[in-house]
Amino acid sequence: MAKVAFIGLGRMGHGMAGRYLDAGFEVALWNRSKAKAEDLIGRGARWAASPADAAVDADAVVTMVADDAASRAVWLGKDGAAATMKAGALAIECSTVSYRHALELARELRGRGLVYIDSPVTGLPDAAAAGKLTLLVGAEPGDLEQARPYLTPLSTTIRHFGAAGSGTVYKLINNLMGAIQIAGIAEGLAIAEQAGLDMKLVLEAVESGVAASPQVIRHSRRMAARNFSGATFTAALRQKDAAYAVALAESLLADAPIMGHAAVQAYDRAKAYAPDDDEGKMIEIVSRPK
Ligand code: NAP
Repeated sequence: MAKVAFIGLGRMGHGMAGRYLDAGFEVALWNRSKAKAEDLIGRGARWAASPADAAVDADAVVTMVADDAASRAVWLGKDGAAATMKAGALAIECSTVSYRHALELARELRGRGLVYIDSPVTGLPDAAAAGKLTLLVGAEPGDLEQARPYLTPLSTTIRHFGAAGSGTVYKLINNLMGAIQIAGIAEGLAIAEQAGLDMKLVLEAVESGVAASPQVIRHSRRMAARNFSGATFTAALRQKDAAYAVALAESLLADAPIMGHAAVQAYDRAKAYAPDDDEGKMIEIVSRPK
């Protein structure tokens, strides 16, 4: 039976780890806080004392943690997975990390005889739990084929963008565009409110107009109703993704106006205001009276 070590059981990782159990893999788990693992342990997963312990004898280690610092810790820290992985095993980074970090991780892990692929994802936590994510892969073609049996349980679509790091490039572009759109809809709705427009009519017009995107449609009614229950993507994560994307933009787009700067500034404030709440709370930042 193929052995997977899964590290990071947050909103996304918990459901992804469950997919491996559903698919009959032998699963070892580690998360910084053990409580999130209890039901998965009840379903047959082995709880590990550290990422290194989880990775012992694993054919693939899959990580889904918050950011660069967390990724560095779980792969390369003192008790990180790389310390115990067997040569030729797969190292699959699903977290959204910076491009620079993805390249450093690829170099470090390959230097230790491991097969690295970056596979950040799109899809919300319910898609993660249902195995319906889209995977944005950066990998050598042969490495992707080795990894495919470990990617299939998570996903309905695998998009292969090129070499290691390229999946992360696309993920950052995607989330930067999302950040700009979400900040934009917050600003647009706040203006409409302050101007006294009929918000029912505004929402109908937004949803059927040319500015409507899946992001705009997902957020506009919730923002107008100030309904932030069931947060799926937090202000802290959106700020992180936008900041990583802007760093990439600055490295590639010489002398261009970088629109993402405004989104990063807006999400800096949203993160300071309510880091673990839904990113849609941006409208409360925008519409606060002077
Ligand atoms: P989350 O619920 O906040 O979970 C974050 C995970 O990272 C938790 O397991 C957390 O451990 C762990 N973690 C944070 N800091 C750590 C550290 N220093 N050392 C070790 N572990 C650490 O986040 P999420 O929504 O699942 O997102 C996970 C990743 O997927 C992020 O990179 C995010 O950008 C990306 N993503 C999210 C979504 C979404 O809709 N939520 C969609 C696509 C991609 P604890 O449980 O102990 O806090």
